[in-house]
Amino acid sequence: MAKRPSKHLRAPRPLSVTHATSETRHDGVWMVQTMSAHAAVKTYLCPGCLQQIREGTPHLVTWPLTPGLLSTSGVEERRHWHTPCWRRRR
Ligand SMILES: [Zn+2]
Repeated sequence: MAKRPSKHLRAPRPLSVTHATSETRHDGVWMVQTMSAHAAVKTYLCPGCLQQIREGTPHLVTWPLTPGLLSTSGVEERRHWHTPCWRRRR
């Protein structure tokens, strides 16, 4: 019976930045985070096609790296997108 090697203890990072990557678009830099089916526990409205993203559908969450003038953090401006809708967005 082999023991699994112990992992280094790491401080948990805030959920909002876990797995987020940055993408540069014509209107600036966006942070993009993958939402797994397991994590998608609500129905969202996709701004790309104006259709619902149903519960349990893997999708993307995006927010601007640079927040707008009226918010203190770009994370407050996050939007849920169908993955193909975000890919189609220019
Ligand atoms: Zn969509």
